[in-house]
Amino acid sequence: MISRIDLRGDAFASSLRDGAFDRDLLPRAELDVEAALEKVRPICDDVRHRGTAALIDYAQRFDGVRIDRVRVPGTALKEALDGLDPAVRAALEESIRRARLVHGEQRRSDHTTHVVPGGTVTERWVPVERVGLYVPGGRAVYPSSVVMNVVPAQEAGVASLAVASPPQADYGGLPHPTILAACALLGVDEVYAAGGAQAVAMFAYGTAECRPVQLVTGPGNIWVAAAKRLLKGRIGIDAEAGPTEIAILADATADPAHVAADLISQAEHDTLAAAVLVTTSVELAEQVETELKRQTAATKHTERITEALAGRQSAIVLVDTLDQGLTVVDAYAAEHLEIQTEDAAAVAARVRNAGAVFVGAWAPVSLGDYCAGSNHVLPTGGCACHSSGLSVQSFLRGIHVVDYTRDALAEVAHHVVTLAEAEDLPAHGAALKARFGWKVPTS
Ligand code: NAD
Repeated sequence: MISRIDLRGDAFASSLRDGAFDRDLLPRAELDVEAALEKVRPICDDVRHRGTAALIDYAQRFDGVRIDRVRVPGTALKEALDGLDPAVRAALEESIRRARLVHGEQRRSDHTTHVVPGGTVTERWVPVERVGLYVPGGRAVYPSSVVMNVVPAQEAGVASLAVASPPQADYGGLPHPTILAACALLGVDEVYAAGGAQAVAMFAYGTAECRPVQLVTGPGNIWVAAAKRLLKGRIGIDAEAGPTEIAILADATADPAHVAADLISQAEHDTLAAAVLVTTSVELAEQVETELKRQTAATKHTERITEALAGRQSAIVLVDTLDQGLTVVDAYAAEHLEIQTEDAAAVAARVRNAGAVFVGAWAPVSLGDYCAGSNHVLPTGGCACHSSGLSVQSFLRGIHVVDYTRDALAEVAHHVVTLAEAEDLPAHGAALKARFGWKVPTS
């Protein structure tokens, strides 16, 4: 069911273009976010003009539930927390504790550089004032994404944060109760029953119930990604975190049952989820194929997983050497990359492109999804070669504060005037000359 790409022998060399691996040869979903833009544009415009009434209509159309208000009442949050299974509560609390440990250490401190005597530039880190956090809830519900969004925002010092998650027909049009309970556990009291593009538009434009935000973060399906791309500029966004991806770089020492289980664990998210094994061992590839069939048949979401594994985005890639394997996984730039090889830490240290790297047999992606302490909102679709996952930094802006004395300005004034004239912007130079009696100090 999963296809093979054989890059052994001459095939690897012919996959290089100007010495770099041609990433178009690697499996990837044909995710046409550009085409989805045309579909989400009218939805976003509608929310902009009709606000809550539009959100109520889209809940009916896309989530199959009639709701009469979008803001979740405080009583529903409290009831969800009171009704939370104690084991789930304990697990969420541990997930929050570990995420706080990691994210609490990410906060950058302000830094002042003394450029010259009397001339300083300080980089001041200031949190975004108000953010909208998207928590998916279509095919699966993600209370873990509440933790992954809220903890870094809180650790950054964001003053106002709101969560949106799709209304669920089975729960009277509220978001899933475990999502509400996770919000309550984290002290978030502003929650909206809104999903997809319309939720992103609600955050961007605001409605009678929801004040507009400056930044929207969080994972979601293609409609969420398209709305974020469309509204970027009006709002800030994190990296596009679309359908999940796992790549595993493995050699003959890997356990095929573990490799298959980890590939299946991410294929479970979405029919568009990607599962890619890159290996130097044909024997391992064969054993993993057998395990994939066995384990997929025995798990709950067999159909969804089968479709994801059979899709063009999933494959087993055969290479001759681990070096070639590293070239391939770097070109792929997976959201999640597991290294299941001999001396995995040394191999992992050589990885350049990945959203997160999971080292060795005892660090499966599922650990990172919930309880490693790392963030699970990670760049997909190859964006890991230029973007990072969600972190405290995502919620901060660095402001340069420039403070120069008269003497410090005088020292550099002639260079400023020269550069202004070289750019044919003499008024820039005049702004300095005006301060020094219309003469440029010579030093
Ligand atoms: P979702 O909340 O992202 O999307 C559900 C919403 O999509 C619905 O409320 C509806 O409004 C909208 N929708 C559905 N069909 C539509 C249509 N035809 N036109 C317009 N809008 C439509 O939930 P989901 O669908 O389960 O997707 C969650 C995604 O998030 C998965 O792909 C999963 O892999 C991904 N994910 C990614 C990360 C990451 O960090 N990259 C983490 C967690 C989850």
